[in-house]
Amino acid sequence: MRLSARTLATKLRPKETRMKLEDCCYDGSKTFKLSDYPTSAKADKKRKAEYTELTAANTALMAELQEKLYADGREGVVIMLQAMDAAGKDSTIKHVMSGVNPQGCSVYSFKTPSKEELAHDYLWRAIKNLPQRGSIAIFNRSYYEDVLVVRVKNLRATYDMPKRCLEGPEDAFFDMRYRQIRNFEEYLYENGYRLLKVFLNIGLEEQKKRFLARIDEPAKNWKFSAGDLDERALWPQYMDAFEQCIAKTSTEHAPWYVIPADQKWFARWLVSEAVVKVLQDCDPQFPTLSEEELAAMAACRERLVNWPSE
Ligand code: ATP
Ligand code: MG
Repeated sequence: MRLSARTLATKLRPKETRMKLEDCCYDGSKTFKLSDYPTSAKADKKRKAEYTELTAANTALMAELQEKLYADGREGVVIMLQAMDAAGKDSTIKHVMSGVNPQGCSVYSFKTPSKEELAHDYLWRAIKNLPQRGSIAIFNRSYYEDVLVVRVKNLRATYDMPKRCLEGPEDAFFDMRYRQIRNFEEYLYENGYRLLKVFLNIGLEEQKKRFLARIDEPAKNWKFSAGDLDERALWPQYMDAFEQCIAKTSTEHAPWYVIPADQKWFARWLVSEAVVKVLQDCDPQFPTLSEEELAAMAACRERLVNWPSE
């Protein structure tokens, strides 16, 4: 007998998971310190195959839930991935979302803003890329860059905006942005969207290993750019920016998940758990038909059955 994805996911639930999804969730209800969240779950390597199977089971479950979400059409889902370079954003999208139907799912990468984008407010390109309700959008990076890289590199100084929007100390400027983001995310929630915000938390040593692999292995050369080292040099400033941003933009409806990313296979499982959770929270249902619609359907059936054969 073929097991349904749901049964399989329950059946395979690990016996002694070191770290669970709840341990990675920060909803703003207490104080936040990034150092309380490890970069490695230190999961037993012998269990890699088991977790890979669990991730696959979650992927199958996602496909079922996505179909319902699409048919239902009441909620839209935005999955945001933030991380330092080489933390695995791209491969997480590739592996975890592999079961999702491309119809009903989009991926948008937030690169250095174009001239046109810079001529708009910073939420403009995010709003332009929101999914319609019933669909999923994956943001590879997001408007959070506007409180991360913009803070670390003081890009505010390069903005072409009125003085009143730019003056004041750094903290006040970014507190204003955190508030704008919280309000925007509340607005989305109140308009039928759910957000999943993931920070893939990689350690400095693991990043070095992955960069070296990108340099040493010809098939990975294309993934490396010298600029990545300039970002790495700003590691403490980035961690500080992440800490403040997560502390100030986590809310009940839009918490952050700080995922230990040093073990890719374990991080993928955690992200797959988070995606399943957000889809389950939507509680999607196949639409049911009214009496009249059922009667109309029955009439169509009758018509089809009695269709003259050629
Ligand atoms: P990969 O390296 O795997 O292709 P990536 O997401 O690192 O993926 P890149 O093209 O290397 O893609 O980097 C995108 C860059 O754009 C990042 O350095 C990011 O900080 C920057 N960026 C994104 N949004 C903004 C923004 N609003 N302002 C300034 N820089 C931004
Ligand atoms: Mg990059």
